[in-house]
Amino acid sequence: MKLAALALVGCLVAVAVTIVLTVPFPVLPGAHPHVDLLRDFAPAEIARERAYHAAVRPPAYFSLLVGVLAVALLGLTRLGSRLVAAVPGHWTVKAVGAVALVFALSQLATLPLDIQAERVQRRYGLSTSSWSGWTDDLLRGLGVRVVMTSLVVVAVVGLARRFPATWWAWGGMTAAVLVLLGSFVYPIVVEPAFNHFTSLPAGQLRTDLLQLAAKDSVPVKDVLVADASRRTTALNAYVSGFGSTRRIVLYDTLIKTAPPAEVELIVAHELGHAKRQDVLHGTVIGAFGAGAGICALFLLLTWAPLLRRVGAPSPGDPRVVPLVLFLAVLTPLLIAPMTNLLSRHIEARADLHSLDLTGDLDTYVASQRRLSTTNLSDLDPNPFVYNLFFTHPSGPQRIALAREWERLRR
Ligand SMILES: [Zn+2]
Repeated sequence: MKLAALALVGCLVAVAVTIVLTVPFPVLPGAHPHVDLLRDFAPAEIARERAYHAAVRPPAYFSLLVGVLAVALLGLTRLGSRLVAAVPGHWTVKAVGAVALVFALSQLATLPLDIQAERVQRRYGLSTSSWSGWTDDLLRGLGVRVVMTSLVVVAVVGLARRFPATWWAWGGMTAAVLVLLGSFVYPIVVEPAFNHFTSLPAGQLRTDLLQLAAKDSVPVKDVLVADASRRTTALNAYVSGFGSTRRIVLYDTLIKTAPPAEVELIVAHELGHAKRQDVLHGTVIGAFGAGAGICALFLLLTWAPLLRRVGAPSPGDPRVVPLVLFLAVLTPLLIAPMTNLLSRHIEARADLHSLDLTGDLDTYVASQRRLSTTNLSDLDPNPFVYNLFFTHPSGPQRIALAREWERLRR
């Protein structure tokens, strides 16, 4: 118990130290960005974005709430443990069955709201998927979540059976290793399950992008195009992989709609993430965070009244799984304001990197305008939405910071 508590504190300190060493505070010293919505966005664009969010928020947020409540209903009462007990077979089958049942039931509960949100996205031209494509994505997403979560859950319950007093140590290390592995495996296994990737054919854009990466001294193996237009009109790009496997991935929607200079700027932002090793640092923070999570779980599951309440005799019994899933769903939401704050700082730094690399404020403003209007991004989010959901600064905030970059440069 004492050792687990110590390890929990140790992991949290490691998370804090990594954050302090790798996240920029402040992003641009001396900057006083002033957001001026009407300078860059026409009243009609603002009105369209507001109408879209007024329509999409109720189903989207109710879906989130209903999803959490459904998992809470199974994880905090005896309902979940009874369901697990009804699954026949070995404890591993029961554990995987529990994961599949909890996620499937919660997905079923939110289905009408998800369909409503998808309808709104289609009405505004954001979603281009067919209902069969949408269902396919939904089932694949559910499948990936069930498989990934089952791996962790079977490992945790298995270790709790084998090492009742010290499973926090083995579990914490396993969780950390799984986070590290996941970070490498995700681009190779999960991304191709949702998108089809092709190499950007030889030509001016490919040459320019590889030159940009070379100028930035960031080795890049390939420039790939993802067929995102099958499901969305949204624009995006990202860099995945490490070192020699690093690839720049562009949504085909981006190449089709944005001029090459804007594509270059967006890639320059992604190169900023690669150069600063943001994915690697995020993975390290995630690994220590996962270790902390397992230690906290161990301490929580030593609390006998909680286990009695949910009808699980011990942490090594698969009937504990619904409770564990509830905690796993709740925790990211609770820490979202903090993780989003860190993410926004890292994103702002990548924005500044793209400006340093290209020196092109006008194209930057144009590309941020295009991203915001095409993706119908919330231009003026309320604080609740901003803290809980904004992993990037808003479009107008990004433009305001860029103008400060320009002012400070002169
Ligand atoms: Zn970014």
